[in-house]
Amino acid sequence: MIPGAEQQLNFLQHLQRLFDEGEFVATYKYALLMALAELSVESEHSEGQLVLPMTVIAEKFAELYWPQTLPYTSGVTGTIPEVLNQNQGKQTAVINTLLKLRLDGATTLNQAKKLAGWSKAIRTIARTISEMPAKYLQNVGGVQIPFLYQYPHPPGNLILHHGVASMLRTFHPLIHQLSRAGWVAHIRKNKLNTEIIGQVDELEAFMFGTPRTSLAQVTELLRKIQSNKCFYCGSSLANQADVDHFVPWVKYPRDLAHNFVLAHMQCNRQKSDMLAAERHLGNWLERNLRYDEDLKSELSNFLADVDCSNRVTYWAYKQGVTIGSHGWLNGRTTEPLGHDCLKLIETFVDGRPRFK
Ligand SMILES: [Zn+2]
Repeated sequence: MIPGAEQQLNFLQHLQRLFDEGEFVATYKYALLMALAELSVESEHSEGQLVLPMTVIAEKFAELYWPQTLPYTSGVTGTIPEVLNQNQGKQTAVINTLLKLRLDGATTLNQAKKLAGWSKAIRTIARTISEMPAKYLQNVGGVQIPFLYQYPHPPGNLILHHGVASMLRTFHPLIHQLSRAGWVAHIRKNKLNTEIIGQVDELEAFMFGTPRTSLAQVTELLRKIQSNKCFYCGSSLANQADVDHFVPWVKYPRDLAHNFVLAHMQCNRQKSDMLAAERHLGNWLERNLRYDEDLKSELSNFLADVDCSNRVTYWAYKQGVTIGSHGWLNGRTTEPLGHDCLKLIETFVDGRPRFK
């Protein structure tokens, strides 16, 4: 049976949550999504469930990662050509396994396939996939949502649910594009890669972002307003603090004065691309009400209109509530975003609390 409209919408909503809230410590999950989508296109087309042997997925991984086992040369002065880091910690097992095949003399993937060590390498990669991305891919907001395949999976296979392969085929271009963009952003954001690719961030800031001088101004004001405490956890800020976009930049890439908060680097990183939980939302609304004048007068470089900010925030939370997103509370803790968030913002329409 071909998946109906409702099933497809559900699938897309889960997928969106996975990109927004899934924890991507390494690039494996992007690779797994791309592999599943490609294998769905390349396998015999049926609407039923699809059994994918781990070793077949592992071969896809080898294909995807092979070009990236070469040192990357950015051409930027002062950068060091090296193999890109696919993980925020030590290099991933998949890259290391493939590098061994290069050391054994393979220049191309086809040559690697003919080496004696190939099947062992594929088994190693298959094991890694099973222990890492297959386990964590469907983990969204700390909860396992097995909308793609059965988990735990039977040994040696991933079994895509009825209709999933069909939807992966339908949405292959979208999944491919989102995974690629996420993968590139992950590599770029990884501090271990800075020496290899150079300060790409500066180019991006130059083209679309916020001038550094203005950010210094934001930091200074927010330190005063927040009594030098982290907006999220309330502990004291060190010398270094991050200006965080309360409504994440990926959801609304525009600098609004009222949308800035100052936070620990750690808190900022943990919140990542998520919306903040209701408690933070309440604090944010109150802060903007209280310091509206200061934000307007001192951050005049930015659009400083509290109503506009509230409308953007309402829109972002409404989207989140509709697709069942979780809001970030602290550390790795998240909670479902409910209609109460929307009610909370509604009470602050026109920048003033309506009912108090
Ligand atoms: Zn903090």
